[in-house]
Amino acid sequence: MPKEKIWKEILHELSAQLSSESVNQWFSGLRLKNLDPERLIVETPNQFTSDWLNSHFREETGRAAGKVLGSTVQLAFVANPELKTEDRAAADRKSRGHSAPERTFRPSMLNPHYTFDNFVVGPSNQFAWAACRAVAERQAKNYNPLFIYGGVGLGKTHLLNAVGNLLYERNPKLKIIAIQAESFLNDMIQSIHEQKMTQFRRNYRKDCDVLLMDDIEIIAGKERTQEEFFYTFNYLYSAGKKIIITSDKFPKEMTTLEERLRSRFESGIIVDIQPPEFETRLAIIKNKTLKEHLQIPDEIAVYLAENIKSNIRKLEGSLVRLSALSSLSGSPINLEMAESILRAVQDDAEARMSPETVMKNVSAYFKIKVTDLKSPKRNRKYVVPRQIAMFLCRELCSLSYPEIGSAFGGRDHSTVIHSCRKIGVDKNSSFELKKHLESIKKQLNA
Ligand code: ADP
Ligand code: MG
Repeated sequence: MPKEKIWKEILHELSAQLSSESVNQWFSGLRLKNLDPERLIVETPNQFTSDWLNSHFREETGRAAGKVLGSTVQLAFVANPELKTEDRAAADRKSRGHSAPERTFRPSMLNPHYTFDNFVVGPSNQFAWAACRAVAERQAKNYNPLFIYGGVGLGKTHLLNAVGNLLYERNPKLKIIAIQAESFLNDMIQSIHEQKMTQFRRNYRKDCDVLLMDDIEIIAGKERTQEEFFYTFNYLYSAGKKIIITSDKFPKEMTTLEERLRSRFESGIIVDIQPPEFETRLAIIKNKTLKEHLQIPDEIAVYLAENIKSNIRKLEGSLVRLSALSSLSGSPINLEMAESILRAVQDDAEARMSPETVMKNVSAYFKIKVTDLKSPKRNRKYVVPRQIAMFLCRELCSLSYPEIGSAFGGRDHSTVIHSCRKIGVDKNSSFELKKHLESIKKQLNA
């Protein structure tokens, strides 16, 4: 059967479950890209449509496709800008102001696994947890916006989704937009490009009761995005909609954040998540092993909790690796395995490196001065080491592009992005560059 025909069948199947208006409005003009049930791709004309469909209709569409193809199907909506043939009727309906279709499924962009039930509360995250709980239970009108900040892998995304999931459970009709700030940015760029800003604005303003924006730090330094977000924010805020924002930086630390946005963020409540204490880490391990049915001896759990301190994602990752190792080798988990896993995990630069350390090592390696890296000098002798140093700062110090820019004598973030991309690409083809990177990293780890 050709793909078109199969897509029609899927739509037919879907219309048994959704209103025909929803199907017309959201599904016409889409295209099936392949027929691989492991990863069935449906193309949409833009990022917003993809995000929306992924968050509202992914499971349902997957199920419909499964029925048609006779197997279990993994399905995703992916934007393909070449696909601009948006159905006229649907477009007209939208411009006449029909709102989003009635929703009866969990928005799947909300991760259903991230709930309050499986969030371990301890002194390090108690405040953030309590604030999220209060917002989700609608008691806290003045906790708006709620701004959650904390280091990488400490549970921001988990809490954000927990709020969304609970709100959704209590009221499935609530229009919840859960989105990475980066998708907001991409969607905006695309909408500008396609001259669809009116629609973009309506999507984020009119069709939204709750805005959950993850990782807002990436909009620092991006003026147009900040401006757009500012207006969206004001619109929702003055309409009394809930807004929750996460960030790995405190508003004051985001040096290139516009003042008016900063003061908006600070006008609600700001809560932080700190790295968990030993007891919380241990409780998280127990929680996870129980949930995933992993058999991990107590002393190994304690060993991991003692040694992986600053990142819960790594803690979880090490559990998974450990049980994989044990089942692959066919022997029960022992301390030796745990030690080897730990070494691997900590090789991922558990300790945050400072950009100064990176610059010192890079300049020593190339026999130039640190000030040369920060200077505007444009000879090749300096340019390549500088690009390498920026690349390593991104990789090892987990700094944002604007932060790297300011560490390198106040350069613009777009220069940094360019450098990081260039090295990232070139290292695959240049043996020499690869060797440089390896030697410098070895030196840094010593
Ligand atoms: P962040 O968004 O802050 O980088 P995440 O929310 O993605 O971090 O959390 C990383 C992982 O750690 C997720 O799998 C999450 O479920 C888990 N996690 C974080 N904090 C907790 C907690 N307090 N209890 C249980 N799991 C947690
Ligand atoms: Mg996150």
